[in-house]
Amino acid sequence: MIRLSDLPLREDLIGQEPYGAPQLDVPVVLNVNENPYPPSPAIRHEMAAAVVSLAGGLNRYPDREATALRSDLAHYLGHGLTAADIWVANGSNEVMSHLLTAFGGPGRKVLTFTPTYSMYPEYARNTCTGYVTVPRRADYTVDTELVLRAIAEHDPTLVLITTPNNPTGTAVDLDTIEAIAQGTDKLIVVDEAYQEFSSRPSALELLDRYPRLIVSRTMSKAFALAGGRIGYLAAAPAIVDACRIVRLPYHLSAQTQAIARVALAHSDELLAQVRALAGEARAFEAWARGRRYDVVDSEANFSLIGRFPDRHMVWQDLLDRGILIRETGPAGYLRVSAGTPHEMAILRSALDELSPKLE
Ligand code: PMP
Repeated sequence: MIRLSDLPLREDLIGQEPYGAPQLDVPVVLNVNENPYPPSPAIRHEMAAAVVSLAGGLNRYPDREATALRSDLAHYLGHGLTAADIWVANGSNEVMSHLLTAFGGPGRKVLTFTPTYSMYPEYARNTCTGYVTVPRRADYTVDTELVLRAIAEHDPTLVLITTPNNPTGTAVDLDTIEAIAQGTDKLIVVDEAYQEFSSRPSALELLDRYPRLIVSRTMSKAFALAGGRIGYLAAAPAIVDACRIVRLPYHLSAQTQAIARVALAHSDELLAQVRALAGEARAFEAWARGRRYDVVDSEANFSLIGRFPDRHMVWQDLLDRGILIRETGPAGYLRVSAGTPHEMAILRSALDELSPKLE
C-alpha cells in the first residue's frame, strides 16, 4: 500500500496534520463554539422541502453566482448593502481562503494578532502567503498604534483583525477599526464570526467610508447552522469580483444555497438564542471568577479560563466525565463554548469536583 511519505507531497506540507478539534460522541459538547440549539422542527421541515423541490433540477449546476442567497444575506446585514457587496462560500473558512488566494500568494504577507484563530496560518500555508503574527497586549486587546506599527514593520497585503477574537473573546472597538482603516491603505479583513453575540457595534457601519475594509461573517454560530457550511463577507463589489476570479466554478451547492435561504427567512427565530447564549457565557465567567479562575473578558459565545498547571489533565478529566471542551489558547487556559443551562451546570459541578486545579 502506498504511504503518504511515498507521494510527491508539497515540501511545505510534509509532516503537517489535518486541522481539527477531536470529534467525539459525548453527552456535553462545548469545544467548537457551535450553537447548542438545533433548528426547530418547522424550520427543519422547510429546509427539507426546499431540498426536495430543487432535487428535480440536480442534473443542472447550481446558480454559480448564488445571487438570491447573496441578496438575502445583504438584506440580513442591512446598511444599504446589496448582492453585489456580498460574497458567500462554504463557511467563512472558504471565504477567507478566497481572500488569501486573491490577495495573498508567493512574496505577499497576511498579518494577524496572536493568540488568534488557529486556522489562519493554514489559509496562509495553503495559498503560499507569508504568515506574520504580532502579539496582542497582555489583556489580548489590540489598539490602533499596535496594528499600525505592525503594518509599517511587515508591509502585509492583508491585515486580519478578529473581533470578537477566537480563542480569547476579546472585542475591538469600532473607533479602533476606523482609526486603523484611516491609517493604512492595506486591505483590512475584520473577522466577525462571533459578532452577533457581541454588545459592540459591527464594522459593517464603516464599509461605505472605507472601500478596503472587508467584514467576514458566518452562519455557523449565531444562526446555528455549522453543518450547513455558509460563510460570507461584505465589501466593495471590486473585492467580491476578486473572490469570483479565484472560486471554483459552482463552489456552493444548490442544497447549501437553499438551506441558507430558509435559515435567513427565519433569522428572527434562529437568532433568538443569541442573547441567551452570550448571557450563558457571561454567567459562566462570573462563576469562574468567583472560583478564582483567571477569566478573559469575552464578547463571544465562549469563555477562556485558566490558569491550570496541567490543562491537558483537566481537559482529559472533563472528557472522562463526558464533557468535551477545547485545549487551545495561551498556555494554562481552556476554552469553553456556551451550551444550554443544563450543560453549563454539568460543567460547573465537574470543575468543582476537580482538584487541585489552579496555579
Ligand atoms: N473565524 C473564526 C474566528 C472562527 O472561530 C471560525 C470557526 N471556528 C471561523 C472563522 C470559521 O467558521 P466557518 O467556516 O464555520 O464559517
